[in-house]
Amino acid sequence: MPTLIRGGHVVTSAQGRLPAVIADGAVLVEGDLIAEVGDYPALRAAHPAAEVVGGPHDILTAGFVNTHGHFSEGLITGMAEEYTLWEWLEALIHRVDPHLDRQMAEVGTLMSGVQMLRSGITTTNDMFCSDPGRDAPLTPGVVNALDLLGLRGVLSFGAGDVGSDRGIEAEFEEHEALREAVAGSRRSLFRVGVGAVGGQSDAMFARSVAYATGLGVGVHIHLQEVREEVTATFQARGVTPTRFCAREGLFAAPTIAAHCVWVDRHDRELFAEHRVGVAHNPVSNMILASGAAPVAEFRALGVDVGIGVDGAASNDSQDMIQAIKAASLLARVHHQQATAMSAAEALELATIGGARALRLEESIGSLEVGKQADLVRFDGESPALACTHDPVQAVVNIAGSREVADVWVGGERVLRDGEVATVDVAEVVARARPLAAELVARAGLHHLSGWR
Ligand SMILES: [Zn+2]
Repeated sequence: MPTLIRGGHVVTSAQGRLPAVIADGAVLVEGDLIAEVGDYPALRAAHPAAEVVGGPHDILTAGFVNTHGHFSEGLITGMAEEYTLWEWLEALIHRVDPHLDRQMAEVGTLMSGVQMLRSGITTTNDMFCSDPGRDAPLTPGVVNALDLLGLRGVLSFGAGDVGSDRGIEAEFEEHEALREAVAGSRRSLFRVGVGAVGGQSDAMFARSVAYATGLGVGVHIHLQEVREEVTATFQARGVTPTRFCAREGLFAAPTIAAHCVWVDRHDRELFAEHRVGVAHNPVSNMILASGAAPVAEFRALGVDVGIGVDGAASNDSQDMIQAIKAASLLARVHHQQATAMSAAEALELATIGGARALRLEESIGSLEVGKQADLVRFDGESPALACTHDPVQAVVNIAGSREVADVWVGGERVLRDGEVATVDVAEVVARARPLAAELVARAGLHHLSGWR
């Protein structure tokens, strides 16, 4: 039976073919696809048997596309706030890297994934950053968790051989294990992760390029998040990380690059030339004091920009609505202009912009016929949204996760009246607590943690 999802305001994120906002509209979902989008009364009359969800005051948007995150950080949230990126990597992330196991990968993903669903994320682009699994590959645990949640994943392993005693083969075994698990998954896609240019030897980088281009899959990389990275690569390789990627052929694979804060004009032009997508992570960039990415400059060049929540150890929330608002606010502070990024632009980045940056705009990112039925229903009965004048400003500047009533991924209602419908959240939490304590103990991080 088809479902007719109704909203007083249907914010389509469609560009050109549909109005940006349809008043008293609805989306007809058949199977996993959007079958029709239009006026509610007309669709209701044409489909009298359809189940109706939603009401005349609700707001519907396309599902949010989170363009950058790390499920490897799901159990180490809210620690080590006083560091900038490289210090933070040393104090926290690299301490944890050798100690993750597959169960931690799965439960950490469930913990982050639940928060993502509650904030309207329907697709998440992740890079699992850790040492390769010792006893067994870790990343199949991520795939398993996303299949349980019903969340759509674009999944990569953030490989790097510099400073590792494991060798290049172990890194590629983890890639392959992830690729195999994704092939059997419900909704996930595989990408080749390159942790960062500085994390790979020349030999490994060349192999990463050949691996991605040979398979015809995309790449997920961190690029020029902090000045130190640019300086170090310039000293070691004579060019910026972006120029190095272009020169060595990485951008022949569809690439999404996270952060891109410390980029110059030539770097930005290379992004445009090679259609590299940018994952902008405003909250994480503020927490780590990395800076403000030049989003307006990228967009002026036609570069596709999406928004990311980033990992649960650097944001530390996994709340997309907060990240969308932060994108708009950070741009305003950065440029000292109230017009620097409107709510509409921030919402565009979070939906169709992110889909484009991942080159998935044909199947997700907007409420249009033929696309995957990935939708968010915001509760118009909530006091925060009950007097909505502008639905876009309402979603970006007023709403929080508590206003997210329903989420559909591929037509499956994975969040129902504010509750995750696919997993038992209390059970996930009960599994996570001892694992988080164990991970902190294994990594020797008691000095950073309240677990004493
Ligand atoms: Zn990252």
